[in-house]
Amino acid sequence: MTAKLIDGTAIAKEVREAVGAEVAALVAAGYPPPGLATVLVGENPASEVYVGMKQRMCKKLGMESFSYTLPVDASQEEVEGLVKELNDNPAVNGILVQLPLPKHLDEEAVLRTISVEKDIDGFHPINIGRLAQKGREPLFVPCTPDGCMYLLEHSGVEFNGANAVVLGRSNIVGMPAALLLVKRNATVTICHSRTKNLPEVCRQADILIAAVGQVEIVKKDWVKPGAAVIDVGTHRIDDDTKEKGYYLTGDVAFDEVNEVAGWISPSPGGVGPMTIAMLMRNTVRAAKIAHGLIEV
Ligand code: NAP
Repeated sequence: MTAKLIDGTAIAKEVREAVGAEVAALVAAGYPPPGLATVLVGENPASEVYVGMKQRMCKKLGMESFSYTLPVDASQEEVEGLVKELNDNPAVNGILVQLPLPKHLDEEAVLRTISVEKDIDGFHPINIGRLAQKGREPLFVPCTPDGCMYLLEHSGVEFNGANAVVLGRSNIVGMPAALLLVKRNATVTICHSRTKNLPEVCRQADILIAAVGQVEIVKKDWVKPGAAVIDVGTHRIDDDTKEKGYYLTGDVAFDEVNEVAGWISPSPGGVGPMTIAMLMRNTVRAAKIAHGLIEV
């Protein structure tokens, strides 16, 4: 038996189509198109690619995109000043500061400057704090873990009472993924670089989210038969035998884990396309909040 494939590419397309329809409905109702502002500091090629993808997706879905690039030596005041301007700009509904920022900048202070109502990445301390509290809801949920949850839910995976193991405790993926799973009544174990007996811990998981950034670390004998496995890891491996000179893989050894898991979301083709789809969804949500169409 092989696992059921959780096809992030197809599911993300559905999400984007729904977002595009919401944008069209907003515009037809006389509202301006939702606007996303991206802030990039310095010249990080990977960040430039990500920001470019987000801008193109905005245009494709009928949204506005505003792009700002500051020099690598921009001061804290300059970055925060730009964010404050964007907070005050009514055409901007969502503000995305592309991480990581150069080392001399205080990342948390920059994220704290973003208006909570425009924090479409969900990294503002207030949004993260609400995510961590029982009975409270953040205005926005971080896009990658939100994408993981959407994939699981869409596939009919049961959260209630499930044992979930999250590999990784980063602010961007692991920790918010764990908080989201707790909110859905899973019993959650968070693993990191000091966790002992990792394979044994993972084998207890009905739901396993791998976000450690270690090439194909999750093997077949780490996975409980029938478990749902979400691979967040993304790695580009140089390989001269491939046409492009490289191939992409994740944190999960797909071929062997596929033989034992109940569901599997691969990398590439899983969480990656979901992240950008959820960002677009959050931007439309921000526009609706700004227009008083959603009460928060
Ligand atoms: P990160 O900030 O480097 O965090 C990695 C986490 O994994 C840390 O908590 C670390 O533990 C833990 N870890 C590292 N090596 C480990 C090991 N051998 N055993 C157990 N735990 C280990 O990474 P991230 O930003 O969360 O990203 C994780 C992966 O997801 C990367 O491959 C990244 O490219 C990918 N990613 C994909 C998307 C997407 O949209 N598809 C978005 C974001 C990230 P400590 O805390 O103890 O250091």
